[in-house]
Amino acid sequence: MEKNGILDPDDWGAFRVEARRMLDAAISQMQVARDRPWQPVPEDLEARYAIGQADQGDLVARLVEEVLPHHGGNIHPRFWGWVQGTGLASDLIAGMAAAAVNANCGGRDHGANRMERAVIDWTRQAMGFAEGASGVFTSGTSQATVLAFQAARVRAVPDLRQSGQGDRRLTAYAGAGVHNATLKALELLGIGSQNLRRVPLRDGQMDPQALRAMLAEDRAAGAMPFLIVGTAGSVDLGLFDDLNALADLAAAEGLWLHVDGAFGAWTRLAEPPWRGLSDGIVRADSLALDFHKWMYVGYDCGLVLMRDAAAHRAAFAARPSYLAGAEAGLAGGEPWFCDYGIDLSRGNRAIKVWCALEMFGAAAFAAAITDNCRQAAQMAAQVEARDGFALMHPVVSNICVFTAAAEETPERQSQINTQIAMALQLTGSAVFSTTDVAGTTCLRAAITNHRTRDEDITAALDAVQEMRLRV
Ligand SMILES: *Cc1c(COP(=O)(O)O)cnc(C)c1O
Repeated sequence: MEKNGILDPDDWGAFRVEARRMLDAAISQMQVARDRPWQPVPEDLEARYAIGQADQGDLVARLVEEVLPHHGGNIHPRFWGWVQGTGLASDLIAGMAAAAVNANCGGRDHGANRMERAVIDWTRQAMGFAEGASGVFTSGTSQATVLAFQAARVRAVPDLRQSGQGDRRLTAYAGAGVHNATLKALELLGIGSQNLRRVPLRDGQMDPQALRAMLAEDRAAGAMPFLIVGTAGSVDLGLFDDLNALADLAAAEGLWLHVDGAFGAWTRLAEPPWRGLSDGIVRADSLALDFHKWMYVGYDCGLVLMRDAAAHRAAFAARPSYLAGAEAGLAGGEPWFCDYGIDLSRGNRAIKVWCALEMFGAAAFAAAITDNCRQAAQMAAQVEARDGFALMHPVVSNICVFTAAAEETPERQSQINTQIAMALQLTGSAVFSTTDVAGTTCLRAAITNHRTRDEDITAALDAVQEMRLRV
């Protein structure tokens, strides 16, 4: 078997053996993920990674010994820090197929674009959006948010692409717990973080009355409100805005309703009562969500959906002559995804979702998502039953925040909870992150982990209790 190009392997047979070794090691890593918690990164790792240091023939051995062990912990069943997905065995297969095809999904007529359309269509239906909605895969919710806000802005200011925003003071409205990605997107688009108005929450949801009052006040002061950002799953506490109320208000006020559903949108697949949390999501003008969190697929993989495909396209479509379409041939095929976002060259992220759904079936994801909500509720019940522990907020979806030292002052609790989180990470027993609730740093578990079993919840809380005696 001859090599084709300068950069093809000298010996395809030997390469085949090496690549199979890598595949075996990768499968083993997933199979025994339970025995592989996060571990501190060796000081000299970066030096060991320095290019050109080692024998080229050792590539797979080095990957197995020096790369696989140094993961970020999120493959482990007791990892609940921040909001991170677990990864799936189907990712291994998807990665190989994607690399073999090496698709550029910016446009043109080939299979990967058709696949992306098929997966967008599945997601559209899962979210309840009508036919005629459009979407595009992104690196994540942060990028999806930028795309959505730009479309909202172009709808509000139709000549924006030519003339810019001018001296209009565009303003946006979001609940007090909105994710930083919204702020960043507004900064990036030149709207400015001061023009994001934080609406106070009432019972954990944006207060529509307060929002209405802010809109009137801003309009009277010469501002141009254009956007309401609803949250389906707040990052700190897993709270959901009343999306139907926000949709009513957006319609009455002529505003674009965007929903940040990074992880929480997937409650659409969960059983009641959790499914009901995202009722009304279908009425959003745009929805940003991630597959790499609560659909568990490998990083990175997000999506923006827009109700009105024409508004989506109006914000991004641009075809210089060298990208002109054609009736047939490679330059055929519509739509081209470069007309729906920032990127011209883009990989096939959809294949990870496609493989996951085809391998496990959507029902398995619905069950895992429901389980994670149930496990968060179970954690809350156990927290309440243990001495010295207290919930810091009722569990709404998949996030449980609590303190392990309820009898102490807020300041001392903050120290203790911070130390416990760190010590448990270092010992590899469980990963909680921390967050601030009403001035107290507490332990936080965001359960987006299909490997978590019910007994992991008990074992992790046992570990917290034990560590509480030592810090
Ligand atoms: C993670 C998250 C984001 C940002 O999404 P990325 O995929 O990390 O870019 C935005 N909003 C919420 C609620 C999130 O949890």
